Amino acid sequence: MRYISTRGAAPTLDFRGATLAGLASDGGLYVPETWPALSRDEIAGFAGLSYVDTAVAVMAPFVGDSLSRDELRDLCEQAYGRFSHAAVTPLKQLDHDQWLLELFHGPTLAFKDVALQLLGLLFERFLVGDTEGPLTIVGATSGDTGSAAIDAVAGRAGIDIFMLHPAGRVSDVQRRQMTTMRAPNVRNIAIRGDFDTAQALVKAMFNDAAFSGRFRLSAVNSINWARLMAQVVYYFYAAVRLGAPDRPIAFSVPTGNFGDVFAGYVAAKMGLPIAKLVVATNVNDILARALSSGDYSSRTVIPTATPSMDIQVSSNFERLLFDLGGRDGVALAAQMQGFESSKAMRLTNAQHEGAAGLLTSATIDADGMALAMRWAHEAADEVIDPHTAVALAAARRQPFGVPMVTLATAHPAKFPDAVERATGISPVLPSRVGDLFEREEAFDTLDATFGAVTSYIAERATARS
Ligand SMILES: *Cc1c(COP(=O)(O)O)cnc(C)c1O
Repeated sequence: MRYISTRGAAPTLDFRGATLAGLASDGGLYVPETWPALSRDEIAGFAGLSYVDTAVAVMAPFVGDSLSRDELRDLCEQAYGRFSHAAVTPLKQLDHDQWLLELFHGPTLAFKDVALQLLGLLFERFLVGDTEGPLTIVGATSGDTGSAAIDAVAGRAGIDIFMLHPAGRVSDVQRRQMTTMRAPNVRNIAIRGDFDTAQALVKAMFNDAAFSGRFRLSAVNSINWARLMAQVVYYFYAAVRLGAPDRPIAFSVPTGNFGDVFAGYVAAKMGLPIAKLVVATNVNDILARALSSGDYSSRTVIPTATPSMDIQVSSNFERLLFDLGGRDGVALAAQMQGFESSKAMRLTNAQHEGAAGLLTSATIDADGMALAMRWAHEAADEVIDPHTAVALAAARRQPFGVPMVTLATAHPAKFPDAVERATGISPVLPSRVGDLFEREEAFDTLDATFGAVTSYIAERATARS
């Protein structure tokens, strides 16, 4: 399997290369050259498989020659062995056709563990015997990626991690999950700015060839293809349990950077009968506007109770636009450069109409979110987190007549204040997070300038010799 850049001007890489690189050198994102197809019979055969066996079957075509099937299975067993539920991503029924897919049974209580626990192991495996010097992971987080990434790479040899979060805009649980993880290869940076500003700083570091090469930068944000690949698995795992491939299934996905929902798009491309993918956003609705009217234009971020969705530039949307726009890297590079300079662009007809077949969108405000939390509690005795509630509210607007699965992306105890406001219930942290509120925090606060962040990293990272 070969990986190409959405902007057409970076070298083609294998899975190992694309994983270690993260972002492509032309500023684009790596995507597989073709979508591997699974037959109806192959998908039907997933019905009896464990999560790990499903993961190996779905991911093997993407991994290609970079790992043997046994090596891949071994890494999946290690990664998913750290989840607290035997099904890894269990389904819960809410009413006759509404379901939750619980993705938060990993170590840091959000769905990002599903991909990052595996990614940490892939980095370590791919660096064995490597002579190009240590890898410097630089990432921006709206809250959940940071803790999941730090948990996945803390203490691993040959890797330094620098994680930027927007100061004061992540929840206490989220911040503490990052800043109390005291390992010598972990640095937390609070940026005086919002998430999009932090993400733009990270992109600028990758685009600076000298800096990026000197420190061998790599990414754990969902711009890294391996993350999306790991997320494709649970669409298959859930759909097959609800009757796929004989009946189509719909999914509602709380969306920020468009990674999770793009993984659903990939599952559909591979042959999974997905009736509809609902792109659920909060009032930061750039994706809903893009999908409904073709207007992809960024506005000021409004902070909400769902910080992981407070995003106005959705990195992975580029992968969708590339695939729907005839995979023309030159044209997409021009379109994206236009967006980067004016913060606005129009989708082409092919992109807009192509998306409409599978994707639909819904914007959910604070009242809609709170109502969905209360409904889940009253209808099914389920306490859900605010991100999940945004997607559930969107799901309940859709009369599809097929099983509707809402992706439950975080444990409610990660966002206790919003949950208590809506339901009167104060969710309790599971015992696996331990003494989070007793541990000492460590982080540095920096101005949102390229110079401040790059000199901080240069002083602390291990440069290549
Ligand atoms: C990251 C995150 C999201 C958004 O996922 P994307 O892949 O960025 O669209 C939604 N909910 C929670 C809890 C998250 O951590």
